[in-house]
Amino acid sequence: METRGDYMCVNCGAKAPSLYKQHSPDVLRLYHCKKCENIVDKYVEYDTTIILIDIILQQHQAYRHILFNAGSKPFWKIAVILLLCDSYVLWINQEQKKTRKNFNQFQNFQLDWDIYIMALVTLIELVSFVLTVLIFTQLIRNKWRISYSTLVHAMIVGSCGKLMIVPALIWGQSGSYIYLGLTSFFVWLSLVHVYQAVCGVPQSVAFVTITCSQGIQYLIRCLLLMLMYV
Ligand SMILES: [Zn+2]
Repeated sequence: METRGDYMCVNCGAKAPSLYKQHSPDVLRLYHCKKCENIVDKYVEYDTTIILIDIILQQHQAYRHILFNAGSKPFWKIAVILLLCDSYVLWINQEQKKTRKNFNQFQNFQLDWDIYIMALVTLIELVSFVLTVLIFTQLIRNKWRISYSTLVHAMIVGSCGKLMIVPALIWGQSGSYIYLGLTSFFVWLSLVHVYQAVCGVPQSVAFVTITCSQGIQYLIRCLLLMLMYV
């Protein structure tokens, strides 16, 4: 960890050669940023629970710690789980529209091929969302010149609020429009903050980028569903 040289100060975004220096098995000294003179990454010493709480509170430093300094994470596995959550929500919405009833229990539906079609629709719309974000980012030339893979990872981290569908299933609220609306708002908020955190752009730019990308994602969803049910 002392020589990798590609860490980032979670406060100002400056490059840092290391996060800490280990003097002995029990003693380590956290590095201070040469630019802002704060500790490069205070989360090195923090418990995972505190980091998660800070992410829920939309702390940009916590996002930067996860994406730049915390080593490799199984982002693709999280992406698959998020895709399944999204597919399930879309499937529930379509089933409710078909039956015109407000079901609240997973058991009220019979599993059919529709859920696989919804998974395909969800995959296409998510790819379109990520591509739109990448195009926007290319146009605005983000301040810190982050890689595309980091940006994709940031979008995955920012979408983790979709996992709230799991407790909704347990509580029997998976068909509640209020619950789903609040979840969508939290995901949108998280995406705006994580984009701002990793790109170093003003909040207004992050707001426009994420809102427009989600708008295009929604349009593609409507188009695909319309083509399916004509
Ligand atoms: Zn700094």
